[in-house]
Amino acid sequence: MNPIDLRSDTVTRPTPAMWDAMRAAPLGDDVFGDDPTVNALQARIAADLGFEAALFMPTGTQSNLCALMSHCQRGDEYIVGQMAHTYRWEGGGAAVLGSIQPQPVANQSDGTLALADIEAAIKPDDAHFARTRLLALENTWGGQVLPLPYIEAATGLARRRGLAAHLDGARLYNAAVASGAPAREITRHFDSVSVCFSKGLGTPAGSALCGSREFIARAHRWRKMAGGGMRQSGVLAAAALYALDHHVERLAMDHANAGRLAEGLQGLAGVTVAIPQSNIVFVDLAPDKPRDLVERLRSRGVLVTGLYRLRLVTHLDVGADDIERALAVLRATLS
Ligand SMILES: *Cc1c(COP(=O)(O)O)cnc(C)c1O
Repeated sequence: MNPIDLRSDTVTRPTPAMWDAMRAAPLGDDVFGDDPTVNALQARIAADLGFEAALFMPTGTQSNLCALMSHCQRGDEYIVGQMAHTYRWEGGGAAVLGSIQPQPVANQSDGTLALADIEAAIKPDDAHFARTRLLALENTWGGQVLPLPYIEAATGLARRRGLAAHLDGARLYNAAVASGAPAREITRHFDSVSVCFSKGLGTPAGSALCGSREFIARAHRWRKMAGGGMRQSGVLAAAALYALDHHVERLAMDHANAGRLAEGLQGLAGVTVAIPQSNIVFVDLAPDKPRDLVERLRSRGVLVTGLYRLRLVTHLDVGADDIERALAVLRATLS
């Protein structure tokens, strides 16, 4: 039997219909700007999310990096969650490659940054300080959906204080589907948004950065410098176009499967599991649990990540029956 891979929603393979769309895509050389499928995707995602322009990116990391570098100059700073992907999980690229100082502030348990903390982190215009330029939020954060009123308040505060606002929306569509709000209701509060097609939407690679025409022109330059100028990338853009048409609404199934997983793990001694808001389930284990649970689960055909906090992510390559099979293994192994 194939293992059930719950390590991430990035592990999916293209479906046969996605392969067909990729094979059929008209292609060009995107560095010359003449790949029709890339151009179609860029126009489509910009329009869907309410922006003037968009840029197809190889990865979410490069997309966020180019966004930060397009908002901030050398010696500027951006305010970001202590546990945000751009700060914590992208190799420190903003600082290393962008000469941008991150100003991390604590993530509250619901993923928000307290407005008072944001306010306190904004520096006055004084030669002692880096120039605070940008607020970066993330949605979903650890699978949690930022409440719309919070997004409105935080980006409103940023705007009042002269900061731009960027959204790392790697899982934007999970947030939209989970909250029942159209994606553009979330994105309209931001100056720029990065969205991944390679997570819950199930493409082999690719992200998009959206913003004003002038912002995207700057990002285009950084993308080339970062080595992200791809050629017949329409083959990947076709997968993204297919996913936007066919893989957004079905995210509700991933969320239901995550809910079923969490429900099925409740009540085991030494196991704490919160009801997930989207497709990520965190399982906290008492310290007396064996340290090799991930290996034990793997040997029984269930792949997860973590140590005392396991992370289980649902996606389009795990069905409801896989969830029941995984639950049986998890219950037996964690008990
Ligand atoms: C995965 C992820 C990224 C980066 O995407 P890659 O394509 O893996 O570089 C950025 N932000 C968040 C929140 C993510 O989950």
